[in-house]
Amino acid sequence: MEKKEVSILLIYTGGTIGMVKDYKTGALKAFNFNKLLKHIPELHQLDCNINAVSFDKPIDSSNMNTEHWKMIASIIEDNYENYNGFVVLHGSDTMSYTSSALSFMLENLSKPVIFTGSQLPIGDLRTDAKENLITAIEIAALQEDKKPVIQEVCLYFEYKLYRANRTTKVNTEHFKAFSSLNYPVLVESGVYLKVNKNVLLRRERVKSLLVQKEMDNNVVILKLFPGLNKYTLESIINTPNLKALILETFGAGNAPTEDWLFLELKKAIKKGIYIVNVTQCSGGAVIMGQYETSEHLERLQVINGKDITTESAVAKLMYMLGKKVPKDSFKAMFEDSLQGEIQ
Ligand code: ASP
Repeated sequence: MEKKEVSILLIYTGGTIGMVKDYKTGALKAFNFNKLLKHIPELHQLDCNINAVSFDKPIDSSNMNTEHWKMIASIIEDNYENYNGFVVLHGSDTMSYTSSALSFMLENLSKPVIFTGSQLPIGDLRTDAKENLITAIEIAALQEDKKPVIQEVCLYFEYKLYRANRTTKVNTEHFKAFSSLNYPVLVESGVYLKVNKNVLLRRERVKSLLVQKEMDNNVVILKLFPGLNKYTLESIINTPNLKALILETFGAGNAPTEDWLFLELKKAIKKGIYIVNVTQCSGGAVIMGQYETSEHLERLQVINGKDITTESAVAKLMYMLGKKVPKDSFKAMFEDSLQGEIQ
């Protein structure tokens, strides 16, 4: 038998892709991973070796937390030298959060880590799981001059490969469930795989993988809305141990100019809480100072989230806080691109 040169590790965490219907209640629940593989005999036809590991208890991704992120990072770390690429099967609900987090946790990554899942379980007649899984593996196995073509954390769904930390789940029922409005698609799958080489992350030198597992979850997101009151903001700011507040602002980073908002944010900053300005629009960027309604945030030296997604901002803050980035370099580091997540 011909020896296959590329090896891929499949990591099953849970999600619809491997779920079955509980016929008593009608609800979808996770099931045994080995059964999942039986549904896709096509995997044997791929030109690579595939091994699989699974969470002991596969979960719906709504139950994901920083401990699960650590588990995924550890599996990749422990198997890094033995595989050419990794495909992580994950529920779509929080896939953008987990994959963004992994993009920061896996420092110096020079192999592909591709997240995928599906809207319909793999056993369904009309399932999108097979295409997503098979193409994600094919992309993870792509090599040029014996080096992986993809060297970053990505998300593959419905014929498109995205940079993971640029994605957002945008639809609960379309097969095209994700979008990356501020960064182009990395690979498009049609009759051929069309790789947009000029937008891929390239590592100048291959360094050893460093896994940062400490993620500090003392962060919160507050989406602004007309009518938000002082007491709500005040109680959020008084959350015990709070270290960072992501303000999802209007349009290009705008917020009410009422005094109480300025004063509460000022109080928070004085307490050492980082405030990050991220737009609640799905595309485009924060431009602080463009309107009078963001000048006060600029005066407060609020961190500019530019075109980062909220999912990526959460992950980046947890990572930077976990890394204990010093206060005097925190703002500059957040506003800079670490893994292609911000302009
Ligand atoms: N609730 C599921 C999950 O995120 C949905 C999916 O798998 O797409 O785990």
